[in-house]
Amino acid sequence: MRLIGLLLILLQAFTAFAEDIIEPVFMIEMLAPDNNTRSKIAQIIHIDSVIGDRIYSVVNAEDLKKIQEEYSAHILSLELIQNKLSSYYKTALGVIDFPVGEEAFHTYDEVHAELKQLEKEYAGLAHLFSLGKSIEGRELWGIKIGSQAESKEDKAGIAFLGTHHAREHVSTEVPLNFAREILEREVLDEEIKDLLKTTDIYIIPMINPDGAMYDIENRRYKWWRKNRHRNADSSFGVDLNRNYSYGWGTGGSSSSPSSDIYMGSAAFSEPETKAVRDFFRAHRTIKIALSFHTFSELILYPWGGRHEGVGGSDEVLFKKMAHDMAAMNHYTPMQSSELYIASGDTCDWLYGELKVYCFTFELSPASMWDGGFYPGARVIDRVYEANVAPMLYLAHLAKNPAFALELK
Ligand SMILES: [Zn+2]
Repeated sequence: MRLIGLLLILLQAFTAFAEDIIEPVFMIEMLAPDNNTRSKIAQIIHIDSVIGDRIYSVVNAEDLKKIQEEYSAHILSLELIQNKLSSYYKTALGVIDFPVGEEAFHTYDEVHAELKQLEKEYAGLAHLFSLGKSIEGRELWGIKIGSQAESKEDKAGIAFLGTHHAREHVSTEVPLNFAREILEREVLDEEIKDLLKTTDIYIIPMINPDGAMYDIENRRYKWWRKNRHRNADSSFGVDLNRNYSYGWGTGGSSSSPSSDIYMGSAAFSEPETKAVRDFFRAHRTIKIALSFHTFSELILYPWGGRHEGVGGSDEVLFKKMAHDMAAMNHYTPMQSSELYIASGDTCDWLYGELKVYCFTFELSPASMWDGGFYPGARVIDRVYEANVAPMLYLAHLAKNPAFALELK
């Protein structure tokens, strides 16, 4: 009898461990006719889409409660969406992989394997490196692509970053695909061969591997955004794109740990943002960076944390580059804070501290109704193809960004 009792206890414990906990997630539609209202709302929730006088966002239960307390009059509609998408997928407890049918997306291990494979196939041209470790101890992998320079001083650099936000999986695929394409083309294409003689291309496809893998745990999506820091109040996660030091905590981020836009206990409190910071500080040849997010089809440039532009000739240059790229991928170019104020992001810090010309792309789809964060694996190729030209455009400018002003 005692043995059976023990077995029952063990069975119960195992069931509790293996339980697939579904935390509720809501889609919210709000009236927010101007920047001022949007910026106030963005103090509480992340705004995913701005369409006309309305904003749309996917929020967790805590954030929903806060927004209901302060802005109930602005809420036009509200829908529980978590269970809806989950029911499409057959879950597999304990398995960390994309849902069935979504396997074209790369898991963390597959990203690492692909980068290792590229290094092997293109020995001498591609170099795998780690920026550091995530909070759960995963290496933050990057790949450096460039030919041996005749003299080191001549070499410029550009960096492409993916997946600061866990659920934005398309933003891993775009820079990752670019790594392979650049290497394949180097063999045949004089333009790329010449580019790599003068410019090192750094690709870091997954800044937030813990969050991204948590988002697909049990083979179903969770709408997870942050990293997996266990906070003092036992909630999880810091919004890595609110954790950089430049203007940290000055708007569009929350000091509440359970919020999806939690800025962290201090600027650079997170190992992932610290690793990005130390990488750029150690690689001062990098003059241009592009950080991929999803979604909305936008090209954003600093500042995000304040309404003013960066001013002077750099403001002209940012605008020119953004408009040139918009002509290629047909996204909408704008200063980040034109949407709403958000402080502590990657690009404000990169430009503010290191004068790196940094852009954020909010990749396809355009809206929630085209799939939002989960548009399906079938869009990967199309989204990637649309962004090859802007990526090459930036890579060619890394040596002398101001040259953009001379381009027609
Ligand atoms: Zn994002």
